[in-house]
Amino acid sequence: MTAMVKAEGVHKSFGHIEVLKGIDLEVAPREVFCLIGPSGSGKSTFLRCINHLEKINAGRLWVDGELVGYRQKGAKLYELRDSEVALKRRDIGMVFQRFNLFPHMTAVENVMEAPVQVKGESKAVARERALKLLDRVGLSDRAGNYPSQLSGGQQQRVAIARALAMEPKLMLFDEPTSALDPELVGDVLDVMRGLAEDGMTMVVVTHEMGFAREVGDSLVFMDGGVVVESGNPRDVLTNPQHDRTKAFLSKVL
Ligand code: ADP
Ligand code: MG
Repeated sequence: MTAMVKAEGVHKSFGHIEVLKGIDLEVAPREVFCLIGPSGSGKSTFLRCINHLEKINAGRLWVDGELVGYRQKGAKLYELRDSEVALKRRDIGMVFQRFNLFPHMTAVENVMEAPVQVKGESKAVARERALKLLDRVGLSDRAGNYPSQLSGGQQQRVAIARALAMEPKLMLFDEPTSALDPELVGDVLDVMRGLAEDGMTMVVVTHEMGFAREVGDSLVFMDGGVVVESGNPRDVLTNPQHDRTKAFLSKVL
């Protein structure tokens, strides 16, 4: 089975600061892959590499079976052309900590926007799908609301529906509940749990250890730009092997 994401010795530097120092991991299709680690460990940077927002400096990275970045020491950089990148990015949905909805558009218009603008879909077809997606995230009665009229949790669920509107093969979540008031977190996690049950491949950066334990198929603990420990979330969370993992978990659990 072809991995949805495969990283081999992935390095990424900004100037002379090395942020990713050789990441090796594999995400299988339909897998919920959780990524945890302290602030600054390189989690967001790694997601951005998967989503072609950053180019890797060394190693090899495949997304959906295709090599998207490759460099060996002293060799020429292999990378996709910009036009290829634009096509690849359509297949990846990303949800950020901040919801980044278009403030001047209603919920349904936010969800319709990319299929109409990027894929050239008709508004009628895009609207129909958008309404179904809003229903799926529990917001069928909010289609006509502007972001400012929605709670943070509702906005984040619109953001998830918006990402799903492009019918992605892979969903990336970068701390999707970290900016939410505690009482709004559960609804967003429930939507993500539903996506997982439907078989969506998901890479989730999160501090929600309950979600990782219950929904995650794999868990990776990153620190200082390396994978310190990985495995079944239940095993890693209840019986961490490395001191750095233990120290981190003692702070967040
Ligand atoms: P995490 O998501 O685990 O908190 P990040 O991937 O956001 O970590 O950041 C890892 C390190 O990379 C941090 O020290 C951050 O300051 C640095 N970094 C991230 N993006 C850039 C950038 N565009 N330019 C320079 N440094 C960056
Ligand atoms: Mg981050």
